Amino acid sequence: MAAQAPTLNPFENATRQLEKAAKILNLDKNTLEVLSKPKLVVEVSLPVKMDDGTVKVFTGYRSQYNDARGPYKGGIRFHPNVTRDEVVALSAWMTWKCATVDIPFGGGKGGVICNPKDMSMGEQERLVRRYAAAITPFVGVQKDIPAPDVYTTPQHMAWFMDTYSQITGQRTPHVITGKPVEVGGSLGRSNSTSRGALFVAREALKIKKIKNPTIVIQGFGNAGENCALLAKEVLGGTPKVIAVSDSKGGIYNQDGLDPEAVQKHKAKTGSVVGFKGAKSISNEEILELPCDLLIPAALENQITKENAPRIKAKVISEAANGPTTPEADEILYKNGVTVIPDILANAGGVTVSYFEWVQGFNWYPWSLEEVNGRLEQKMVKAFHDVYNFSSDKKVHMRTGAYCLAVERVAKALELQGLWP
Ligand code: NAD
Repeated sequence: MAAQAPTLNPFENATRQLEKAAKILNLDKNTLEVLSKPKLVVEVSLPVKMDDGTVKVFTGYRSQYNDARGPYKGGIRFHPNVTRDEVVALSAWMTWKCATVDIPFGGGKGGVICNPKDMSMGEQERLVRRYAAAITPFVGVQKDIPAPDVYTTPQHMAWFMDTYSQITGQRTPHVITGKPVEVGGSLGRSNSTSRGALFVAREALKIKKIKNPTIVIQGFGNAGENCALLAKEVLGGTPKVIAVSDSKGGIYNQDGLDPEAVQKHKAKTGSVVGFKGAKSISNEEILELPCDLLIPAALENQITKENAPRIKAKVISEAANGPTTPEADEILYKNGVTVIPDILANAGGVTVSYFEWVQGFNWYPWSLEEVNGRLEQKMVKAFHDVYNFSSDKKVHMRTGAYCLAVERVAKALELQGLWP
């Protein structure tokens, strides 16, 4: 899914967030100047033979924003609305996200303008391989490590890895993450975003002394569904998922829904709507339900200045990218709602990507327990880093996360100096 509203220029938006953090940090002007631009943006033309025998030329990008803290890291998006600006903005956000959770990566992002939903598997494979071949000179295990994003899958990652390995003559699984486990992927990667969003929510709930929380989840796709399924395991006690929704509508039961039964219903019917033993509720209403924990896991710009005053959740963990507008942030902060921002709350995915890269380097896969245990450590530490920083500076957690991330990248940059 796109991370930004289509009317905003995403790169301008990313720059504004950086400037806000820079002002609070009193950042050196020269450092801000360097952090305001991507280091390298590559545009490639990708001729692909289609099934009907014609050749179609696709446009692809790879943006390498900043590598002061480690190799560039970020997904590859296949979508008809991909633009250069969007790819650059997403690579900036990856820089801040990796720094927020303190993993040794910079920020990168890739994209190809295409619609995989209209392409056969053969066409998709040829496109992935052509893109991999075109950007092979720019990526590498200590240079730039891509991953899946919107409309790209573990299968695409396997083709990318194989193409890169064949061109370089070296089997290199860790040049890309999000691969199937059979070819060097990490255990625990598939639900790591949701697990991470719950670890940080658990910490916020503890601070608010809330036990056995009621939970509302907007969006029942990969991220939302796994949040529902993992809630009991991660939060402990007896949490109750009281409402969930998808693009067709929502369902609500104050006594709690059985996440596995809802999952089965959705697998059978294509939606959560119509689940027995629950009332219908709209996607607008679901956000305003009284609950302890709200997890937006669908689209951007869902909590706005219009509905923010009516939000009754005590904690919001943003599994989705960009679900809250800046005006809504201010309202929620004044109302005492703890909003765990996307660059922290949904960083579990990139954290396990980092683990996948480390496992690849060592040719030694970890057990699921080890992956989940290390993810917990990273997310809990990152939550408290951001929470303490925000409390000290008396700002909301989004601003706190950006400040902390920018400060870390700026420090790395300053220590290495400017050369040549
Ligand atoms: P997905 O496509 O699997 O699921 C999205 C869900 O949202 C679907 O159930 C869809 O029906 C629902 N939806 C769409 N429009 C809606 C609406 N108007 N109201 C309510 N629900 C609606 O996508 P995903 O991978 O689960 O990603 C969800 C969000 O989480 C995105 O913002 C994504 O960028 C973010 N995210 C996901 C991951 C991940 O690992 N999956 C990682 C980081 C961030």
